[in-house]
Amino acid sequence: MECDTEKLMRAARTAALNAYAPYSRFRVGAALLGADGVFYTGCNVENSSFGLTICAERNAVFHAVASGCCQFRALALAATRRVTPCGACRQVLAEFAPAEMPVYMADLEAGEIRMSTLGALLPEAFGEEEAALLQRTDDGKE
Ligand SMILES: [Zn+2]
Repeated sequence: MECDTEKLMRAARTAALNAYAPYSRFRVGAALLGADGVFYTGCNVENSSFGLTICAERNAVFHAVASGCCQFRALALAATRRVTPCGACRQVLAEFAPAEMPVYMADLEAGEIRMSTLGALLPEAFGEEEAALLQRTDDGKE
């Protein structure tokens, strides 16, 4: 019987098929397991103005948040070659997921899946405490 991780990885592979990557040809799919048990997927969407490109991981996070889910339990990534979340995506994920959240990264061409955790990928993440300190500084009050 297929376990949840296999189902999550399959959802990421399916999302990668929908990637819009005419410039890099690097297709990435992401699937997040929400605390509500739902899979939220995203794919990379490139743009001719490269800075406007969005990664699969952030696309999946925003899909989940727009659907009312703000807590995640696992992330699966599938790509046409070796993949790991970029720094921006790691920080966005840290807003909604614990450091121990497993992150599965599949290289579809090589047939390899690597496993890590969000905390290993982003140690000492910027978080609520740092944001609160900044807010106090901006207000000019303690
Ligand atoms: Zn990214």
